[in-house]
Amino acid sequence: MLPDHFRIPPPSDGPRGLAVLGSTGSIGTQTLEVVRLFPEAFRVQALTAGRSAERLIAQARAFRPACVVVEDEAAWAQVRAALAGTGIRVLRGTDGLCEAATLPEVDVVMAAIVGAAGLPPVLAAIEAGKLIALANKETLVVAGALVREHLRRHRGRLIPVDSEHSAILQCLVGEPVHAIEELILTASGGPFRTRPASTFAAITRDEALQHPNWSMGAKITVDSATMMNKGLEVIEAHWLFDVPADRLRVLVHPQSIIHSLVTFQDGSTKAQLGVPDMKVPIQYALSYPARWPAPHERIDWAALRCLDFEPPDVGKFPALRLAFEALAHGGTAPAVLNAANEQAVALFLEERIRFIDIPRLIEAALEARSTAEPQPSLATLIETDAETRRYVRERGQELRRTATY
Ligand code: NAD
Ligand code: MG
Repeated sequence: MLPDHFRIPPPSDGPRGLAVLGSTGSIGTQTLEVVRLFPEAFRVQALTAGRSAERLIAQARAFRPACVVVEDEAAWAQVRAALAGTGIRVLRGTDGLCEAATLPEVDVVMAAIVGAAGLPPVLAAIEAGKLIALANKETLVVAGALVREHLRRHRGRLIPVDSEHSAILQCLVGEPVHAIEELILTASGGPFRTRPASTFAAITRDEALQHPNWSMGAKITVDSATMMNKGLEVIEAHWLFDVPADRLRVLVHPQSIIHSLVTFQDGSTKAQLGVPDMKVPIQYALSYPARWPAPHERIDWAALRCLDFEPPDVGKFPALRLAFEALAHGGTAPAVLNAANEQAVALFLEERIRFIDIPRLIEAALEARSTAEPQPSLATLIETDAETRRYVRERGQELRRTATY
């Protein structure tokens, strides 16, 4: 049997209330594209953004939600002025996100905020009995044990949106999970798969933002280039499917057609395939356990000549090793890993550190800051997150002073 949080009844025929957290981002806008395909199935009740005021205003005018939430203060004022007289409430900050995620008229929460900022509304939504469609993998990396405990206590339901985890779920439906031998997460290898490691110090921001197969937000695109994205996904898979680290494997598959695989104890392997299009796993999370007909692009078998595979190069991409080590260490290590990564990626995107400094800063933070404390509380995790970010900012400044650019 799959873990209890996958016990999700088929969606009702009438419209379900939907909150899209992070509606202006890559997953958020694609979620709204899926909603447009099934106008009878959803009533959008809440939309939220960090700072993209213009986009949020346009979405609010199109979908007429009960409320919108904005993080940034200036953007909030702009959205409030633009939506005055519409009857749409304009909320702010983490409290606003938690309120939007728990509105009585909301049934399903698409959690598509990037980073640990997405954790509080996910916990609030679980408490309020909402179905969570989880794109925000950082939530499970930072607080996997806590989220699972919350799901158990509140009989919560949560389904992954991430393409690899959606693929694994699709392979596991109807299977005895005790018969799993290995979950194999595929990785494209990112834009630097074939680039010599000796040139990594010169990697620019623009080069790191060119993903070969997927168009995504900036943070996850850099995570794909360092392969930290796959490391975060290994931790995500552990908490979603109850599978220990020694039965989680990463396989580089440059075409991103096979989204992941499951090998069972009898030697059989199942895989899920499709063109790289997040609308498919987004829709599956919203229709599960049903499947709805949709015009998403199909695989062109005549054009698809081969599928390639290779083992990941952890020497070249140390972020992957660091993620496995943080999962094995437990305690606050995954929260340190995530916060250090978020901060280091932000510094790289601001062109304050080099690409190769990202894993170095994460490794230093793991050594300096992680503790083995079992089941850290939410307060401990929030404090760990803030302290780790501070540590990485300071170390990043030191690097800038001492390194030659
Ligand atoms: P994005 O940067 O395109 O969008 C992020 C959204 O969150 C935006 O609406 C932004 O306004 C909002 N936001 C950012 N910081 C915020 C804050 N501090 N408070 C409140 N709102 C904030 O990111 P994305 O690519 O859509 O990714 C979203 C999540 O989904 C990430 O966790 C990512 O790892 C995961 N994911 C994305 C993809 C993809 O194809 N884009 C695939 C799998 C998983
Ligand atoms: Mg993924």
